[in-house]
Amino acid sequence: MTQRKSIEQYIATGQQASQALTERTETIRSKKFDTIAVRGIYDATESMRNQGSILEPLYLSSAQHFENSNQMEAALTGQIPAWAYSRIHNPTVGYLEATLALLESYGTDENTSACATSSGMSAVFMATNPFLSVADSNGSAPANIVVTAKCYGGTFMLFTERYQKERGIDVRWIRNTLDLGEWEAAIDKNTRFVFGEMPSNPSLSVFDVAKVAALSHAFNIPLIVDSTLSTPALMRPIQHGADIVIHSVSKTMTNSGFAIAGAVVAKHNITSNVGPDEMRTNFAQYIKFLPGRDYGPCLSPFNALMTLNDLRTLRSNVDLLSRNTMQVANFLAAHPNIDSVNYPGLPSFEGHDLAKRYLHLVDATTEAGSPTMRYGHLLSFTVKGGHETTRNVLDRMQIIWRATDLGRIKSVATIPAISTHQQQGEAGRDLANVPSNLIRLSVGAENALDIIDDLDQALA
Ligand SMILES: *Cc1c(COP(=O)(O)O)cnc(C)c1O
Repeated sequence: MTQRKSIEQYIATGQQASQALTERTETIRSKKFDTIAVRGIYDATESMRNQGSILEPLYLSSAQHFENSNQMEAALTGQIPAWAYSRIHNPTVGYLEATLALLESYGTDENTSACATSSGMSAVFMATNPFLSVADSNGSAPANIVVTAKCYGGTFMLFTERYQKERGIDVRWIRNTLDLGEWEAAIDKNTRFVFGEMPSNPSLSVFDVAKVAALSHAFNIPLIVDSTLSTPALMRPIQHGADIVIHSVSKTMTNSGFAIAGAVVAKHNITSNVGPDEMRTNFAQYIKFLPGRDYGPCLSPFNALMTLNDLRTLRSNVDLLSRNTMQVANFLAAHPNIDSVNYPGLPSFEGHDLAKRYLHLVDATTEAGSPTMRYGHLLSFTVKGGHETTRNVLDRMQIIWRATDLGRIKSVATIPAISTHQQQGEAGRDLANVPSNLIRLSVGAENALDIIDDLDQALA
């Protein structure tokens, strides 16, 4: 047997590899959004390690083989770049994380890291749970969290059922997200984090990310933004002061609908009164390698590949879906059988001015040189005549699918009161402003005229 390489030798080689990766990441970081989305960190150097494959390979292997016990020890003690075991890390998942981190920090000087998770809900959990440690309690008042009441039903249930009922966390709901006074009154020194969805599912409500970040930071508290509906193609919250961004990657980012996935993307050196130093220094890396190791919400490499494939065209997809949705929203707003339409692109929408400040298509300008306004693919509307009529409208849809889903290349509709927001009960729905005659519609890439025809005959 030949002399085996020492741990020190492996560490030296590992450091060179990390340095080279950092340099290559800087190179891709200087490129435009679409280039980053298409390539990520998977460049020629990376391809030569993968038989020249120009596409990211799918590493389904559960574990990594090591040359000898020294390399194994260096890897398992985190001294060299390695993936070891797919619950902890996986090369295919790593390509996705690198792309997501770059897209969220696009146009900023911030360094970011990403942790991919098994679903959007596990991303919400992994991003919020580390702030709720009892070790950080000051004894007297219970810890509180400040959250937009208009939020995804799953998030509402996690915060009320798991955090409030099981752990005694005081959940302070923000009802009118446009009222900064309401945010200010809710935040105090026992607040662990401030959490907002932008725009919200299903009522599309918006909030001033920069101003709420400033209010949170005044108390040394992090702002967490669920940016699922914006995607980095329309808004990058870290640019506006947010510390942590959450995505249900299952939605627009995996437009094909072939995967459930989530992600937490965080800037380095986040603001927080609680938690260990290593958590603040690199939050996404911390949750990936420590709480992630213990809770185990890892993403399947197969799902990571599905997402990588769809992410390449994120910007052009969001552009197309947004333009279709604007046409559909205009049609619905003028329809006699519709009470109201929630869509940030409509001038009549309450948060329209704020949405105009935050939501633009990245790397795009109009012929006149102003930002290209795009408002995403989700809208909701209330039907005149009540719940039964609303069910009839949904049941008559021919092209639009009846499903609790959104962000698809295909148009999908649901009645949130009987589906996504059913579990939270009537009081919870009132809080979140989800009436029983509300239809949520995620507009797809079919021709907008055909979607409008389908709605027209369903509403007739
Ligand atoms: C769907 C959704 C989630 C949950 O994501 P899953 O991938 O379904 O777990 C969280 N936030 C928002 C805004 C969503 O639309």
